[in-house]
Amino acid sequence: LLRLDDVYKSFGDHDVLRGIDLEVAQGEVVALIGASGSGKSTLLRTINLLEPIDDGRIVLGGVDISDPRVDVDAVRARIGVVFQQYNLFPHLTVQHNITLALRHVHRMKKSEADAAATALLQRVGLADKAAEHPDRLSGGQQQRVAIARAVATSPELLLLDEVTSALDPELVGEVLDLVRDLADDGMTIVMATHEMAFARDVADRVVFLDAGRILEQGPPAEVFGAPREERTREFLARFT
Ligand code: ATP
Ligand code: MG
Repeated sequence: LLRLDDVYKSFGDHDVLRGIDLEVAQGEVVALIGASGSGKSTLLRTINLLEPIDDGRIVLGGVDISDPRVDVDAVRARIGVVFQQYNLFPHLTVQHNITLALRHVHRMKKSEADAAATALLQRVGLADKAAEHPDRLSGGQQQRVAIARAVATSPELLLLDEVTSALDPELVGEVLDLVRDLADDGMTIVMATHEMAFARDVADRVVFLDAGRILEQGPPAEVFGAPREERTREFLARFT
């Protein structure tokens, strides 16, 4: 579904991505792990065309989306994204946050979009919050709405960047449960995470980024259980 070929990205003289090759199959859940500054967010941002790449290619569903002539809006309509925080429009109700995406991307009629939003909010257990504004919700609830909004448009790919790291510990679980549900439903997910236990549990593959390169990757049992690289071992040791 997604393929990165030898992707390079620098900011000034700082090489942040240094030759990333990555393939993600339909329905696969890939966890990006690595130290702060290793390039996880930058990698996700290049896929969503928030950062132009300097070299290489990114192909989504057979389309070279790194081609500068590509229709950026059309590409983004195929990708759902949720960041660490500030995902929702604060001045819109929860319901409206979701219908806006549906009406904009799918040109749904208001009645249709409302019905779809109601169904989604039910699914994420927040039907009773539809009329609230985001600041009246807990951080965990806001992230669940943000994820609901990201998948409302039926994207081919969902990118999650540390969606739990701004949350109080007791709110992390409800968001991870929702991600697990989506994974079980067959959503293709690429997520940067510091939740190693979650990555081990949910990801089909773990990719360890080290200074802008993929140093090691494989099934969670291998990467966590028997890391081949010394730097992977050092990194993982910090989480145990
Ligand atoms: P974290 O775990 O802290 O989220 P990360 O792996 O997501 O880290 P990135 O955010 O991708 O790391 O950043 C990688 C490097 O790129 C960092 O050194 C960062 O300072 C730099 N960087 C990221 N975005 C920019 C930018 N817009 N301009 C300049 N430098 C940037
Ligand atoms: Mg990051």
